[in-house]
Amino acid sequence: MIAATVPLSSIATEPRADITATKHDGFLPRSLRAIENNTQKAFTRYQDNAGRIYWVYLPRKSSTLGARVYPETTNGTIQISVFEQDLRNPSDITKGVGIENWTTVIVMDDGWEMKLADLAGRAMKQAEKKPRCLCGSILRIGVTPNDDHQIFVCANAPRCSHSASIKQYGYTFN
Ligand SMILES: [Zn+2]
Repeated sequence: MIAATVPLSSIATEPRADITATKHDGFLPRSLRAIENNTQKAFTRYQDNAGRIYWVYLPRKSSTLGARVYPETTNGTIQISVFEQDLRNPSDITKGVGIENWTTVIVMDDGWEMKLADLAGRAMKQAEKKPRCLCGSILRIGVTPNDDHQIFVCANAPRCSHSASIKQYGYTFN
């Protein structure tokens, strides 16, 4: 089943300065091999210095967004998220902001392989979008002042005050 609402994992929401990651091409245990076999080839496997293995897709053309697949082997779930990459260093896959509307967690029960392939594909498509403001500047993730909900705000703020709902830029995962 797909959880209705899920918190972003701590690794996703609170990247720490001491976390680094490098491409991983070593041995994979069977459970992680199954994840990779059901994730699009365009995802690259990384391992961080805490030992965690996950997969990241960054669109080849410059984009502010990326897709990530984080397995949680301790409870048999997989988080699939679209991230806004760090705008100063978009290729740093240890940083960025998880987009809540474009995040889901699947349980590795019957049929999880197809769910993963489907949702990872959707996350890739979302990551290839380039949300633009009416003024032509990029839109970046912000939060509403009152309730802390994520919205798109213009990167040209405060000169431009436009914002947009995230839903406007694609279906939600949940
Ligand atoms: Zn604008």
